[in-house]
Amino acid sequence: MLQMASRMGVLGTETAFEVLARANALAAQGRSIINLGIGQPDFPTPEHIVEAGRKALADGHHGYTPANGIPALRQAVAADLWRRHKVEVSPNHVLVVPGGKVTMFFAIMMFGEPGAEIMYPNPGFPIYESVIKFSGATPVPMPLYESAGFSFSADEVLEKITPRTRLMIINSPANPTGGTVPRAEFDKLVAGLERHPQVAIMSDEIYGEILYDGAEHVSLLSYPSLRDRVILLDGWSKTYAMTGWRMGYGVWPEALFPHAERLAINCHSCVNASAQYAGIAALEGPREPVERMVRAFAERRTFIVAELNKLPGIRCVQPGGAFYAFPNIAGTGLNARGFQSELLDREGVATIAGTSFGAYGEDYIRFSYANSLEAIAEAIDRIRRFLGNLPAASRN
Ligand code: PLP
Repeated sequence: MLQMASRMGVLGTETAFEVLARANALAAQGRSIINLGIGQPDFPTPEHIVEAGRKALADGHHGYTPANGIPALRQAVAADLWRRHKVEVSPNHVLVVPGGKVTMFFAIMMFGEPGAEIMYPNPGFPIYESVIKFSGATPVPMPLYESAGFSFSADEVLEKITPRTRLMIINSPANPTGGTVPRAEFDKLVAGLERHPQVAIMSDEIYGEILYDGAEHVSLLSYPSLRDRVILLDGWSKTYAMTGWRMGYGVWPEALFPHAERLAINCHSCVNASAQYAGIAALEGPREPVERMVRAFAERRTFIVAELNKLPGIRCVQPGGAFYAFPNIAGTGLNARGFQSELLDREGVATIAGTSFGAYGEDYIRFSYANSLEAIAEAIDRIRRFLGNLPAASRN
């Protein structure tokens, strides 16, 4: 009998991939499916980026690159962070990795072990809690509140820090809520963190450029008091519609960088060379394609939130960023899991139960509006019919 390490038993997953499989299976039976479950832009990668990748292949960039990424790419990342946040970052502290997830995995594995505590947003990206458990550390949820636009409360978070807390994960704008943490809340958190110098912070800012109505993206890199303990997670997947290219990066504090780089060498050696050239074109090229995509998301956001709020038993706050709406469905009488599976089976609308993002996601459903306005409008009609047909027993 094969005997795996016991930690394999605690590794979680992303329900999004399971919902996608179920939706595809229903579509294969001929059912009409509208997918509002998927967490990736429904736009192609802008052509000038694709062309740079093609050119890199034609130019013969077929070999290994430096483990931390090609120098021109790391310089482009530093220049981009200056453009966006007016923070100075040394290209030597940028580690290019295959996707946003890898920085997350490295940071959690670097700090997590039995006896350590790692704080993470809940509801939040499911991989945080999964990898924290895998590392052997204890996951400590930081609840997010609908009434606060899905921000955490800095006072509550600071109260939860113990001498065993090693890492705190922050994600704004957030998956699955679309919430952004207000600057005042960050200011309070950062001031309080000065009393806890043993706590590193991993700030997942992968949705930082997908923002609406003047909602502000505050980068934790911009707080000087945290600079020696903030790990920035960012990447190309969402901003440039490049989920399949597997391009991400971390900005690591000087003392941590060599350890992160060693993890990279042990794990993947380097990122696909042609994708790195495409990554330079993304950062240095025109902003117009990104702006056009964000304008399209903004229009859909306004539409889906207004329409969800017209449905019986559902209320939805305006998300400040990302491409998710996270309505409260408690008034329908269904729980999150039941809503997700019944809606998919009966009406062919794929969504994700809030509980897939942690226990604090009960009573919520994640809708991704990375789909056309027409598809969203049709989904809303189907949800209205679904709610109208619910047996009285499920309404309480
Ligand atoms: N962080 C958050 C909050 C995400 O939602 C995602 C993807 O859904 C990632 C990181 C991972 O991005 P990537 O596909 O680049 O690994």
